[in-house]
Amino acid sequence: MPIKKTPAKKVASKAVTKKVNSKEDSGTPLSVVIRRRIEAQKARFHANDNISAFIKPGELEGLVDEVAEKMQAVLESLVIDTENDHNTQNTSRRVAKMYVQEVFNGRYVDQPTLTKFPNVSRLNELMIIGPITVRSACSHHLCPIMGRIWIGVLPSKESALIGLSKYSRLTEWVMCRPQIQEEAVVELADMLEKKIKPIGVAVVMDADHFCMQWRGVKDRDSKMINSVMRGAFLKDSNLRREFLALIDRK
Ligand SMILES: [Zn+2]
Repeated sequence: MPIKKTPAKKVASKAVTKKVNSKEDSGTPLSVVIRRRIEAQKARFHANDNISAFIKPGELEGLVDEVAEKMQAVLESLVIDTENDHNTQNTSRRVAKMYVQEVFNGRYVDQPTLTKFPNVSRLNELMIIGPITVRSACSHHLCPIMGRIWIGVLPSKESALIGLSKYSRLTEWVMCRPQIQEEAVVELADMLEKKIKPIGVAVVMDADHFCMQWRGVKDRDSKMINSVMRGAFLKDSNLRREFLALIDRK
């Protein structure tokens, strides 16, 4: 069976694509195996999608190996002497691990498990969680996005509340993917609505985009602020004002 070529192989002069040693997939790069599983289910695998359901235990290590090999090819194409420059000798593996295990990890691991509590005492009481530190990356340049998020929840009697620390863990899980800020806040709001079933939910994100600072216009002070208002936060301007007044964005 011929080995299916991936686009990165075109620049990978020395890179040998990692093989997977299972009966069904021998000779096929692991990323292609995973991609076929996703396509078989007609699922989406955009940069900000979670694909953990298609990854088997132990495969993330194999993915790190494959990314490291291809990252090495990128360094070679950038004409960097990784053999003699000791600073870049292990850069390909460091970057691969950083992507798969840290900054884009929210694509590859399951959603954090949430303990839910019945809402016995907080009926109709505005809850504000934040600021939650956000570390993400833009899907256009893979440049860092560093910022803060505030979440407002107006629970109902039927709402299942989640522990305070879980808001941070859920936020981190959504943010550790390449994406654009406008979509990230919507995804977080959708998830909170689904989990908590509140009367209203609000998310405000305030972030520095390094693709505006490190490159591009090099404007150090430019920030992006997004807000998503749902349910009661959309209909009730007093509630919205109360929430926005209580979050301290200084
Ligand atoms: Zn960008």
